[in-house]
Amino acid sequence: MMAASRVHNYRGVLLHDELMKKHTSWRVGGPADQFYTPEDLDDLEAFLKTLPENEDITFIGLGSNLLVRDKGIRGTVISLKGKMSDIEALEDSRLRVGAGTSCAKLARYCHRNNLIGGEFFAGIPGLLGGALAMNAGAFGGVTWPVVDSVITLDKQGNIYKRNAEDYEINYRSVKGHENEWFVSADLKFTPGDGEQAAQKVKELLEKRSQTQPTGLPSCGSVFKNPENDYAARLIEESGLKGFAIGGAVVSEKHANFIINSGSALASDIEKLIKYVLKTVKDKHGITLKTEVRVIGEVSND
Ligand SMILES: Cc1cc2nc3c(=O)[nH]c(=O)nc-3n(C[C@H](O)[C@H](O)[C@H](O)COP(=O)(O)OP(=O)(O)OC[C@H]3O[C@@H](n4cnc5c(N)ncnc54)[C@H](O)[C@@H]3O)c2cc1C
Repeated sequence: MMAASRVHNYRGVLLHDELMKKHTSWRVGGPADQFYTPEDLDDLEAFLKTLPENEDITFIGLGSNLLVRDKGIRGTVISLKGKMSDIEALEDSRLRVGAGTSCAKLARYCHRNNLIGGEFFAGIPGLLGGALAMNAGAFGGVTWPVVDSVITLDKQGNIYKRNAEDYEINYRSVKGHENEWFVSADLKFTPGDGEQAAQKVKELLEKRSQTQPTGLPSCGSVFKNPENDYAARLIEESGLKGFAIGGAVVSEKHANFIINSGSALASDIEKLIKYVLKTVKDKHGITLKTEVRVIGEVSND
């Protein structure tokens, strides 16, 4: 008798009850019901079409700006890590870059091809998709000013081309077409000396590692800087450096970082975020806003 085989019309990898702590830089987060890594864009479209209409979908990059709660994520997580990462040279110093491309790879590509304006990507430990969603920035450079247009995808697998002007872009905030996800972007740079740019970036990264706890599990800056001020200054002056809840600790090196000291639960980090918010509000009268995105099922405990 022939063994029954399941026929799928997608080619990527589908996992069930996948622990999100394996996919976040804080190393916390419970299980996602389904976790899919598409092979390419066609495959992603095909996979989305197999999902029920009411399925909740969460796109992630490298999880470097995500706090996933301990109860995990209901529905399907789509991860572009290691996929959809082609970089294609277009005319006029422009590049078509897949949303799964790491920002570090993009920066290296710019250096090697003598393109200027993408150096800042070297400071962002995520994928281009995440950088587009966050309007990530480092070393004085920001994502959206180098965007010409993007290709997006909706839940039904429809593809759209959007121009940068179709979005309302602010500091770590991108509004517009919220029901679509980024699959690639056309980015514009200028010709220049790539080697010199690479050297400058190396110095900036070295300087950064002296002031930020870059080697420890974190999400980078937890809070956005308020206008004309620094969240780190407000947190430090609230006496919170080193303050801990469970395994979550406000970094001694940089007060806007919360570190997982090894045993943190997402709930420890979430409680610490709330504590910092309240303390800064009480001491300085300023309500900080989180830069990290907190997602997943809320616990009733
Ligand atoms: C040590 C450290 C240093 C950092 N330094 C900086 C810094 O200097 N500047 C800075 O801006 N950030 C910094 N970050 C934060 C983080 O790296 C950025 O926000 C980054 O852009 C997130 O990318 P990601 O791929 O990890 O996205 P994720 O964290 O996986 O996701 C972030 C958000 O983007 C959404 N998203 C992801 N992919 C897509 C897609 N394809 N389409 C639509 N939405 C999508 C997710 O749903 C989520 O809401 C730092 C983080 C760490 C750990």
